[in-house]
Amino acid sequence: MIAEIISVGTELLLGNIVNTNAQFIAKKLAETGIEMHYQTVVGDNPERIIAALDIAYTRADMTILTGGLGPTKDDITKEKLAEYFHKKLVINEEAMQHMSALLEKVQKASLMDSMKKMALVPDDSLILQNHHGIAPGCIMKDGKKICILLPGPPKEMEPMFEEYCMPYLKEISHQVIVSVNIKMLDFDHAPVTVVGEAPVADALGELLDGENPTVATYAKEDGCLIRITAKADDRQRALELIEPVKEKCRAILKDEYIQWIKEETE
Ligand code: ATP
Ligand code: MG
Repeated sequence: MIAEIISVGTELLLGNIVNTNAQFIAKKLAETGIEMHYQTVVGDNPERIIAALDIAYTRADMTILTGGLGPTKDDITKEKLAEYFHKKLVINEEAMQHMSALLEKVQKASLMDSMKKMALVPDDSLILQNHHGIAPGCIMKDGKKICILLPGPPKEMEPMFEEYCMPYLKEISHQVIVSVNIKMLDFDHAPVTVVGEAPVADALGELLDGENPTVATYAKEDGCLIRITAKADDRQRALELIEPVKEKCRAILKDEYIQWIKEETE
């Protein structure tokens, strides 16, 4: 199973907001063992949303979209997806009632047409009710193509993802991806040449070519981070694959200038 995140929003393209949704979802995908090779950011533009879907489905089985479920005219993601999957939009009664109850409580106002738009969902899809906002999300299937549509605001998207998407993804994936992060810190007295990623990567040599687990180095401001990542049927098996590679790294990096300071599993 390969997924692609499509973050929809002109605000993202303009740099007005940071794409924390993609970061959140990427971590969750790794947890459920679902691979991701690409992430896309696209503006609130009808043609380009369709084009992004077309491209994504040439290289992924599942797309996960966030943003554009709201009441305004530029919120068009759901409408474009319904068009893409040839599904009608129908009123979801539960979402409608939830919205009316919220309005009554908060504003004592009645439902406006623009708001009703938020209770529309693609026919024949799995509805993800929004307990922290209004617009529901949904999961659509068309043959082998899966599409998950989620609201933009992180405070709505994240709990919806935990509640509905995690159990769904775990069921279709059957695998986990586990990473062990090892932080290397240069000693204060280390010569400048020892600081950074290059000497660590050189020393690890062929270990960096492994496939399962993979070993990668990252230059951080205060030293080098090594990430060992394994994919397996369960967490225990993934950790068993990681352990011998971790010990090889440790044996190679016994350099007097480098200190193995922190190990984290995610
Ligand atoms: P709304 O009902 O609030 O309009 P929506 O589902 O239509 O929700 P957008 O209009 O695309 O979502 O975005 C609303 C807000 O959600 C943005 O202004 C921003 O604060 C936040 N948001 C949207 N996308 C992202 C993202 N990828 N990462 C982080 N925050 C985001
Ligand atoms: Mg919106």
